[in-house]
Amino acid sequence: MEIKITKTTNPGVMPPESQLGFGKVFTDHMFVMDWDSVNGWHDARIVPFGRIDLHPASTVLHYGAEIFEGLKAYRRADGGVQLFRPMENIRRMNNSAERMCLPLLDEQDAFQALTEFVKLEEKWVPKSFGTSLYLRPFMYGDDEVLGVHAVHRATFMIIASPSGSYYAEGINPVKIMIESEDVRTVRGGTGYAKCGGNYAASTRAGERAALKGYSQVLWLDGVERKYVEEVGAMNVMFKIDGEVVTPKLTGSILPGITRKSCIEVLKNLGYTVSERLLSVEELVSAMESGKLEEAWGCGTAAVVSPIGKLAYAGKEYEVNGGKIGEVTQKLYDVLTGIQWGKLPDDYGWVYKL
Ligand SMILES: *Cc1c(COP(=O)(O)O)cnc(C)c1O
Repeated sequence: MEIKITKTTNPGVMPPESQLGFGKVFTDHMFVMDWDSVNGWHDARIVPFGRIDLHPASTVLHYGAEIFEGLKAYRRADGGVQLFRPMENIRRMNNSAERMCLPLLDEQDAFQALTEFVKLEEKWVPKSFGTSLYLRPFMYGDDEVLGVHAVHRATFMIIASPSGSYYAEGINPVKIMIESEDVRTVRGGTGYAKCGGNYAASTRAGERAALKGYSQVLWLDGVERKYVEEVGAMNVMFKIDGEVVTPKLTGSILPGITRKSCIEVLKNLGYTVSERLLSVEELVSAMESGKLEEAWGCGTAAVVSPIGKLAYAGKEYEVNGGKIGEVTQKLYDVLTGIQWGKLPDDYGWVYKL
């Protein structure tokens, strides 16, 4: 695939790395590629970062035809830049596209787009451990008619945002509220697709939890509100009585790449990992009997996020004395070690640019 590059005449400067935060600063360029049902994907280009032009009837604005991905470019100590399991993101994006009737990407073209774009924006990959260049590929339908149908026009883009360390102030366990009113999605819905609509539907519960002092919610399944699914924008894992338990992928859970990587690392370290249904009653009784040893969320943004408190039905339970547990810390060390190139990549997960 040929990518036409138009460079900016007005390059920006990287703010001090300690002031980056998340998703607020953008790089100089963006990748754009158009699709229509007659010509397929065409006009792959990298252009100066800027606003996009949308017809007011665009499908994405009315019917939510939108999917996205999130991954990071990491700076190694030797100055080089690397990606973590990028093909997993591309494949997942195609699974999301299929669910939302958006066009599939050619995997190799998408990989080329990602790598060429990151190479061009290399100076925006921050240097300190824990910081990264967050990459946000996304796709939306932009038919210019109001009729409801699979899209005939779409746009694929990649933007990038240098981001600070998630744990700039140290790894502090978070307080999570188990949500028993709103649900995120249901089986048969779009839970396994990374789409904007899932987020639109989950904001209210998150806001309500925040008002009560909780940082995120733990979702229960949408049919019975009985089984634990995931936490906010992360998958979730529990160490119960020596065994690591994580909800199995039933279709309403986002298949996280961090989740998958954690499972592989844990098995390799000799832990028993069980992907199964976990009811909230089982979780509560494990908390009451002291059998819940650790709990953590896992996702690209935080890598792992220890859970220090869980609230359910008006009661609050402390997990592991409100401190990060041994397994959580180990996972953090191994995954961040591989991602930032401090540990050898025995799994073949890293792609060096
Ligand atoms: C992206 C996402 C995750 C985490 O996936 P990773 O591939 O590990 O970053 C988990 N849950 C939801 C709802 C997500 O959108």
